[in-house]
Amino acid sequence: MHEITILSGKGGTGKTSITGALASLAQSAVICDNDVDAADLFLVLSPEVKHQEKFISGWTAEIDSDTCIQCGICQSHCRFDAISKDNKGLLKIDPLACEGCRLCERICPQKAITSFQNAGNSWYESQTKAGPFFHAQMGPGEENSGRLVTFIRRQAKLKAREIDAQYIISDGPPGIGCPVIASLSGTQQVLLIIEPTQSGWHDAERLIRLIGTFKIPTSAIINKAGIHPQMENKIEAELETLQIPLLAKVPFSHRFRNAMLKHQTLVEYAPHSEEAEILTAIWERIETNKEELQTN
Ligand code: SF4
Ligand code: SF4
Repeated sequence: MHEITILSGKGGTGKTSITGALASLAQSAVICDNDVDAADLFLVLSPEVKHQEKFISGWTAEIDSDTCIQCGICQSHCRFDAISKDNKGLLKIDPLACEGCRLCERICPQKAITSFQNAGNSWYESQTKAGPFFHAQMGPGEENSGRLVTFIRRQAKLKAREIDAQYIISDGPPGIGCPVIASLSGTQQVLLIIEPTQSGWHDAERLIRLIGTFKIPTSAIINKAGIHPQMENKIEAELETLQIPLLAKVPFSHRFRNAMLKHQTLVEYAPHSEEAEILTAIWERIETNKEELQTN
């Protein structure tokens, strides 16, 4: 089993559309949407949910103001400055600042603090035409997206073992934060989707530096090619210097948006289009040159 994680650094590069297209080309894959903060791969894969569960992401403490004697011990010990006085002068815990360490609960002399589990996140196992699909949804104000990514990746891996799938294709989150790090850990290959704009390259460069610390074989696709030829040339030169193979340039096309509006992947929506041909060639190259990409 070989996990390919598709990342872009910046949002809006077309990463999810390309992930969906590659997933629909793979014959034997489990698909995972690691972008749990803003999951949208379901838009092109039209999943049928088979199983749904709550994901407990942590704890949030709460003070019972009827029992609290306002001694301030909890406030002085909270390392996250989550406890402060409200406009009535009573100590309150800010649920967004509380990291759920539960120290205050243990040290309160009045036992006035209770911690509640955060159960606003959910994860799903679904079926799609492209294969089993693992995805999640975070509730408002919920945290620990990195843990949720690690969890659904583990579920995807178990399913891939169960059905003997050749690939796990993971749609990674944007940025370089915790969910990206959780996506990179243990993956076999990264496919970078780079938009040929200043911000597209800036964010891709930051991501490349992060991937470098994991030493994961990486290749790249320039998506929306043609919108900024000078930037494209610069990115091509930079990738060559960094020894990151450029698999292809996918031209800018409204077909990606139209496919999404029809809840289809580009390959399903326009199978004979230039973009579909390029994506098919990319997938064939990934399949046939898996070993080569791993050693680059
Ligand atoms: S430690 Fe307990 S009693 Fe003291 S201020 Fe905090 S909640 Fe109130
Ligand atoms: S649980 Fe930890 S982070 Fe939250 S208020 Fe208590 S001491 Fe602070």
